[in-house]
Amino acid sequence: MQMALLNIITEKDPTLRKKSRPVTEITDRILTLLDDMAETMRDAEGVGLAAVQVGVLRRVVVIETEPGELIELINPVIVKKSGKQRTYEGCLSLPGKCGITERPMDVTVEALDRRGNRIIINGSGLLAKAFCHEIDHLDGILYSDVAEHMLTDEEIRKMNEE
Ligand code: ZN
Repeated sequence: MQMALLNIITEKDPTLRKKSRPVTEITDRILTLLDDMAETMRDAEGVGLAAVQVGVLRRVVVIETEPGELIELINPVIVKKSGKQRTYEGCLSLPGKCGITERPMDVTVEALDRRGNRIIINGSGLLAKAFCHEIDHLDGILYSDVAEHMLTDEEIRKMNEE
């Protein structure tokens, strides 16, 4: 299989603020997009990537919080959330930045897989956070919009030293 690394856009690009459109048909282009997004996410050492981050305004997300356990989501919707977690959060589109967010501890997502089957996935902790973060991207929302606090450069320096 031929895969390609895609360019990840950053905060400066207004595309990140646009709302992504649902996938109406899972074409070869969508399958290639999923493959390339997974490759791009791994190359960038991220745990999640939304299609908008590679400039494609489609409701497509890849997540890999556990190495080798790739989750591909087409038209994902959060159908249930509970509990709370307050943790650090970052984004491949906001390089060098970090914030503290409050997210649900448990999240249930409904989506289509690459074969068009309806799937329901439960995630806790990091996976729950990734579901919220990536699905927000599909509506043009960045974690910095919902963060309780964005770390200063000095705070990031100190954290990296620890
Ligand atoms: Zn992100």
